[in-house]
Amino acid sequence: MSMPIGLGLPPTPPPVLAPRRKTRQLMVGSVGVGSDHPISVQSMTTTKTHDINATLQQIAQLTASGCDIVRVACPMPIDAEALPIIAKKSPIPVIADIHFQPKYIFSAIDAGCAAVRVNPGNIKEFDGRVKEVAQAAGDAGIPIRIGVNGGSLDKRILDKYNGKATPEALVESALWEASLFEEHGYGDIAISVKHSDPVLMVEAYRQLAEKCDYPLHLGVTEAGPKFMGTIKSSVAFGALLSQGIGDTIRVSLSADPVEEIKVGDQILQSLNLRPRKLEIVSCPSCGRAQVDVYKLAEEVTEGLDGLEVPLRVAVMGCVVNGPGEARDADLGVASGNGKGQIFVKGEIIKTVPESQIVQTLIEEAMRIAETMDPEVLAAAEASGMKAEVKVTR
Ligand code: SF4
Repeated sequence: MSMPIGLGLPPTPPPVLAPRRKTRQLMVGSVGVGSDHPISVQSMTTTKTHDINATLQQIAQLTASGCDIVRVACPMPIDAEALPIIAKKSPIPVIADIHFQPKYIFSAIDAGCAAVRVNPGNIKEFDGRVKEVAQAAGDAGIPIRIGVNGGSLDKRILDKYNGKATPEALVESALWEASLFEEHGYGDIAISVKHSDPVLMVEAYRQLAEKCDYPLHLGVTEAGPKFMGTIKSSVAFGALLSQGIGDTIRVSLSADPVEEIKVGDQILQSLNLRPRKLEIVSCPSCGRAQVDVYKLAEEVTEGLDGLEVPLRVAVMGCVVNGPGEARDADLGVASGNGKGQIFVKGEIIKTVPESQIVQTLIEEAMRIAETMDPEVLAAAEASGMKAEVKVTR
């Protein structure tokens, strides 16, 4: 098989649907947030924050699955007391999520958290404390996320909009709080205007994007269980990211937070906003299929799990249309009549019995990965992708 020959030129980046909206830049610990930086993926721990070991263990799992920034809740004094150890031992930046009690904002800043998320709608007398918060965050050099939420909008603004958390109301609340921080000379601000309805959420972020240059944290709040939440977040984030809006994302699912990271990562990869890693393309199957495509696709996906190189592998149900339909794949199989035609870049390289398809694809994928153009690997690595060839089975 012929491999690409490097000419010393950097590889052309894959096309995106729109350039990123220009924003001011923030540093959340070591992670840059804003238009000069790759879009980061966040999640939030589900453990009791004061259970330090459980929280650090979950942060380790999230980090291993590709999480860039993690948020922890801080509802009680014992949670605030746990923050210094968690912030110190976490391998990724920790954001403290503060509701109700302004005193925890100061605890989180003192604890060394990389940022603090505040919800002005439910922090008592927040506006009157902004000066102190701006001072403390400014002295510590950390950003604040103003996290407005459709379900807990500032009562004054809710009243003004007849009790409805409209996109205009969400945006007004966020920009009002931001203006208070700006009055005190503090502008290290990211904003979110989350709503559980993806249509209202998209509209709110569109309006916000027009009115400010703050980096935006995207989220559909209370999106639902895994299936429903994945669809809602993918649709809403896709609508915004395809217009260049969004600098960091959090998929909210009623599921293991590792799932949130997987979904967020896949959304960004699908839009070429992150380098694509292993991608399995499989046909939907039809009356021509001579093999159980769903099962084969699952087995191939499982067999290649952990292969972290940009490789597109096609699993096709028949030899009639399979290789042609999967011409863009690096590697693939077209099955039929108890056999599998293995093809590389559209060319059939061998035919194997059905029982050997999965094993053969794994071997071929390894072979291709090991001989992959170093420039492709370097570009992937430069964009934050793990370029090492790693197979776990
Ligand atoms: Fe049908 Fe073959 Fe196309 Fe799969 S590859 S959808 S089996 S025609």
